[in-house]
Amino acid sequence: MKFGGSSLASASRIKNAARIVQRFSKGNKIVVVASALDDVTDKLLELGETAQRGGSPKAKSLLSKLQYLHSKIGRDVSARGTDKQLVTRISGLNLELERTVEGISHLRELTPRSRDYLLSFGERLSTLTVATALRNSGLKARAFTGAEAGITTDENYGEAKPLTEVSYHQIHQFLEPSLSRKEIPVVTGFIAATVEGSITTLGRGGSDYTASLLGVALEADEIWIWTDVDGLMTADPRIVKDARVLSNVSFGEALELSYFGAKMMHPRALQPAVQKRIPVRIKNSSKPSKEGTLVSVNEGDSSGRVVRAISIIPSVGIVTVSGTGMMGAPGVAAKVFQTLGSNNINVMMISQGSSEAIISCVVSRKDVEKSVRALQLALLGQGYVEKVAAERDACIIAVVGGGMKGTPGVAARIFGAVAQRKINVRMVAQGSSEYNVSFIVPEARGPDAVRAIHQEFNLERPPGKS
Ligand code: ADP
Ligand code: ASP
Ligand code: MG
Repeated sequence: MKFGGSSLASASRIKNAARIVQRFSKGNKIVVVASALDDVTDKLLELGETAQRGGSPKAKSLLSKLQYLHSKIGRDVSARGTDKQLVTRISGLNLELERTVEGISHLRELTPRSRDYLLSFGERLSTLTVATALRNSGLKARAFTGAEAGITTDENYGEAKPLTEVSYHQIHQFLEPSLSRKEIPVVTGFIAATVEGSITTLGRGGSDYTASLLGVALEADEIWIWTDVDGLMTADPRIVKDARVLSNVSFGEALELSYFGAKMMHPRALQPAVQKRIPVRIKNSSKPSKEGTLVSVNEGDSSGRVVRAISIIPSVGIVTVSGTGMMGAPGVAAKVFQTLGSNNINVMMISQGSSEAIISCVVSRKDVEKSVRALQLALLGQGYVEKVAAERDACIIAVVGGGMKGTPGVAARIFGAVAQRKINVRMVAQGSSEYNVSFIVPEARGPDAVRAIHQEFNLERPPGKS
């Protein structure tokens, strides 16, 4: 069971999470994965960036707010405020956090590696608190960091990749003894470590990924993701007011949705679970009796629905490589992707005009400048590429549904609905799985495009009634 930050945003939310674990622990062995409390990861990032500019009063104030938050919630979760061990351990981590921030301000340097170390405090602090809450509700619980639970990654700080085989082996070895003593391991989501033991993170939203890795390693019956909405929905309910919960989603659809869902789930989170066909349930921690969404091998409840859900990925940009000399020149595309890949830039979408004179790649907005520089260095002046250009104002809209495969006219309806709202589509790609059509619009028009498509396909109505 993984609890997201929103499900751990206060002492009472944490106690609620403990009650949920207790309720389902009868007859089940459970491993808990905890995210950082609330939006603590965002706050730690801000703290790191502020500290990097020197030890300012702002950095001090951000730091003491975080320290206060964890101490306060720790005290409130403790039984009658007397859980000395928790209070002491939180103070210890608070002090270590302070030293880390001092180091960053002193050197005025925040490297990917030190950033991961800084971010790890969120989950390390939350896990201790959640384990205490579980003990106070009568369960045996023990806190583990990702590394203590056996998750080992490569050294790609910020977006580290688990070395799965060794991790699976170690997870089994490190957590089974606890489980057989009827203890509930409480593992930090999001963070792990390299072979040498330095802390890494799995990318934003990475606690879902942690849960999936642990579930596979321990051959869990199911992986449950507790969050603040009733399940996976037809669209982000903050964008579409009448978005509906999808009760059954197939693995294929969920992969597309999570990849393009950005905010809802870590893009690679489901991969391990899908490979081993372990069902994933997404449930609301405020309404634990509700069924939520079941992601499984089953086809889903589309009842002929072609489009199931629409996601939006904000904050991306388009990098375009063009030149008349590119026509018919073999290997240009390979060079483009190789250049981006070797600079650790993730390409989220690609399109190439059939004239071959232009190749466009969608990358995260933070990578736009780096991509342009890398491509200019690698490609200009060799006779075929004349220009590398960038467009920073973009978001991806992904329309997903298993029923889209082989159904003609879906794209026409999608783009018709968007055109009616006078939204300019900059670039289009259809996944070869045919489970998704994705396209790019200016960021400010993204939510409107989502609403237009939601309405066009009547997604607010239950299946069978469209
Ligand atoms: P957690 O703290 O549990 O990890 P997140 O904020 O990462 O929670 O993800 C839950 C949020 O994702 C929801 O509150 C919702 O606003 C947003 N969201 C975006 N797309 C969807 C979707 N298709 N279905 C449900 N929620 C979505
Ligand atoms: N705390 C991390 C984040 O906010 C990981 C997670 O919540 O899944 O990205
Ligand atoms: Mg999340």
